[in-house]
Amino acid sequence: MTARIIDGKAIAAELRTRVADEVARVKREHALTPGLAVVLVGHDPASEVYVRSKHTQTQAAGMASFEHKLPEDVSQADLLALIARLNRDPLVHGILVQLPLPKSLHTETIINAIDPAKDVDGLHPNNAGRLAGGLAALSPCTPLGCIILTKSVHASLEGMNAIVIGRSNLVGRPLVQLLLNENATVTIAHSRSRDLAKLCAQADLVYAAVGRPEMVRGDWIKPGATVIDVGINRIPVPGGKPKLVGDVAFQEALNVAGAITPVPGGVGQMTVACLLVNTLRAACAIAGLPAPAV
Ligand code: NDP
Repeated sequence: MTARIIDGKAIAAELRTRVADEVARVKREHALTPGLAVVLVGHDPASEVYVRSKHTQTQAAGMASFEHKLPEDVSQADLLALIARLNRDPLVHGILVQLPLPKSLHTETIINAIDPAKDVDGLHPNNAGRLAGGLAALSPCTPLGCIILTKSVHASLEGMNAIVIGRSNLVGRPLVQLLLNENATVTIAHSRSRDLAKLCAQADLVYAAVGRPEMVRGDWIKPGATVIDVGINRIPVPGGKPKLVGDVAFQEALNVAGAITPVPGGVGQMTVACLLVNTLRAACAIAGLPAPAV
């Protein structure tokens, strides 16, 4: 058996089109242009690439994009003052502070300063707490993307056994909550879990969000399972450009799984598309409009 490859690129493109359609509608019917402000501190090359991509995709969806590039040595007080301004700005409906921040800044304090209604990364404790409590919340984009990719294979996740490997605030924990909302039965694994292979073998849905290249082996996977690989690992290639691999041994898993996301071309594609969804949702909620149809 060869697994179906879940085409994150195509699914993300389709989602971006639906967002653009809804943006056009709220502009037309309510004179509302959703706006996203992205704050980048310093010159981390990977962060610069992500921020550029967010800017391009936000504009392509018909939204307003505001970029704020701050020097590496910006003070915490100046960054907090910028966030306070963006919180008050009626043209801004989503605020994203690109992580990681330089060591001189206290990430938690910065995230906590963002108005939860504009917290399109879903990292503010209000949103994390609401999600954990099963309430409506802005949820982190990568886990949202994982759910959409899974639903491209399974119309309903009800009663399915899922394993989430990784428990970060950015990916693992919110993904667990979203899976519970879908009525899946969830096992949460992490660096202290025993016998991961055995835990994985019971799962209909495997989510790997670890940051360890090809850690999940083909013989861990239950035949026919759906595998969503969140990992992005850069492997040095002698004399060449680094190779991107996921947290799953893709070639091995291909022979066992029912469906699998590739790296690149899987989850990574969905993250920015879901950021657009969150910005549109935030804009509608702030304006007192019904939730958009995306
Ligand atoms: P973190 O480093 O914050 O968390 C990693 C998690 O993996 C931790 O919970 C850790 O456990 C667990 N872990 C580490 N080693 C093992 C092990 N040997 N066995 C089981 N669990 C282990 O990473 P993130 O959640 O931020 O990211 C995970 C991966 O996803 C990375 O490769 C990252 O690059 C990628 N990523 C991709 C995105 C995308 O858009 N595609 C977006 C965000 C991240 P413990 O808690 O016990 O330490």
